[in-house]
Amino acid sequence: ATPTALLVGTGRAAQLGIVIKGPEILESTRRVDTMVLDKTGTLTEGRMSLAEVLLDGGDSPDRERDDEQRALVLRLAGAAESASEHPIAQAITAATRGADEHSGETVQDFANHAGRGVTATVRVDGGTHEDPTSYEVAVGRPGWLAELGVTGVGEHDPLTRTFRDAEGRGTAVVVAWDGRARGVVTLRDEVKPSAAPAVAELRALGITPHLLTGDNRATAEHVAAEVGIAPEHVTAEVLPEDKLDVVARLQDEGHVVGMVGDGVNDAAALAQAGRRGLGLAMGTGTDVAIEAGDITLVRGDLGTVPAAIRISRTTLRIIK
Ligand code: ADP
Ligand code: MG
Repeated sequence: ATPTALLVGTGRAAQLGIVIKGPEILESTRRVDTMVLDKTGTLTEGRMSLAEVLLDGGDSPDRERDDEQRALVLRLAGAAESASEHPIAQAITAATRGADEHSGETVQDFANHAGRGVTATVRVDGGTHEDPTSYEVAVGRPGWLAELGVTGVGEHDPLTRTFRDAEGRGTAVVVAWDGRARGVVTLRDEVKPSAAPAVAELRALGITPHLLTGDNRATAEHVAAEVGIAPEHVTAEVLPEDKLDVVARLQDEGHVVGMVGDGVNDAAALAQAGRRGLGLAMGTGTDVAIEAGDITLVRGDLGTVPAAIRISRTTLRIIK
């Protein structure tokens, strides 16, 4: 391979917003036969918006009290999520920002638990008459909340049923405070217009697309159906530390795996893909992912994924 031709290839890629870390990467790009795509922020816009706030026990005859409780669920969740950069967190805090606030919240001891949720102590000023109240807030997956000792998220609890139904409609998280689950918040995200055409192009190039996500199975399968990924190639509810294993398993089956991701939770899997194949990071994503990838896709446009493959194939065909 002549260095000049390789540079021409990487140069052409760069014009399309495909930044390749070194010319040698074109060779692994050419060989990719399996493309693992992260969901949130990769196949979808990653800009979630609030859809519903559901209460534990459902709605009561007291509409006013329910509305107050819903507002509290949202307010405490918003405060607890205010230090997180996750799309779920952004959506919840954005939804509380416009609210008419008579009193402020102070957040202490915030902790982010990747792929699980957040915990924080939220102090709410009581306005004129009441004393400030402190809440131990946790927002996240019900299974993880149960591990923390939160009640109301067991197999037979009514809220679990509410949560499972909600998952059929999108991304859902449970909001808990002071040791008890209080409600479910659901969120919507849009599939990128470039996702389905890109998946079709990958197929045309002989590459099998897979979807990999920490989100629930129902939402993952909806997105997969929308973009054209087969249900048997969907792996959902994967913890960040296990994303790497999914890539490694495909590699062990003999595939040359490319992985496209954007999040902190994708970084290890991107690096694993890069060791024996290719890691592609969305330039719109986190710095950790960009560092872990071999290629940065500067724009959010997924069409650049098949474009990178095509460029590598033509460049190396010319050389040989
Ligand atoms: P993805 O693979 O879709 O990017 P993550 O691994 O980041 O998803 O998260 C997986 C799941 O963990 C989410 O669907 C949610 O249930 C929970 N989770 C992660 N971060 C948060 C957060 N900041 N607040 C609430 N839940 C969260
Ligand atoms: Mg993501």
